[in-house]
Amino acid sequence: GVSMEPMTLDPHYDDDCIFCKILKGDIPSYTVYEDNIVKAFLDISQGTPGHTLVIPKTHVQDIFAYDTDLAAAVFARIPKIARAVKAADPTIIGMNIVNNNGKVAYQSVFHSHFHLVPRYSDDDDFK
Ligand code: ADP
Repeated sequence: GVSMEPMTLDPHYDDDCIFCKILKGDIPSYTVYEDNIVKAFLDISQGTPGHTLVIPKTHVQDIFAYDTDLAAAVFARIPKIARAVKAADPTIIGMNIVNNNGKVAYQSVFHSHFHLVPRYSDDDDFK
């Protein structure tokens, strides 16, 4: 079966990757949540207020490149982070979770990430 915990990550970074630069602290981000496996930080574009990205703390290009244990560890954290984002504002009543893979699918940063887009009663469609 898939071993869930504990898992240690031996991170590797892509020198040209903007999210690896965030992981290394070379460019700033606003951290929402962080542990040994993932970092969650505010998206610079803020599709809606609180728009957060969850990324593995090692360079993974897209969904097709995960090994199963890392995928399980990353996916297992998403509900907890989604709850934390939701709990930050009582007016959040829903959330889109979006993951784009490949240029054709609108991926623009090639370090796998999950968009957590809070939804409000009066918001407009994002994108
Ligand atoms: P798209 O640009 O179509 O949303 P992705 O799914 O690849 O494509 O999303 C990349 C996301 O990364 C974008 O929402 C963008 O605003 C965000 N982003 C890019 N650079 C930064 C940064 N330095 N800090 C935070 N978010 C960033």
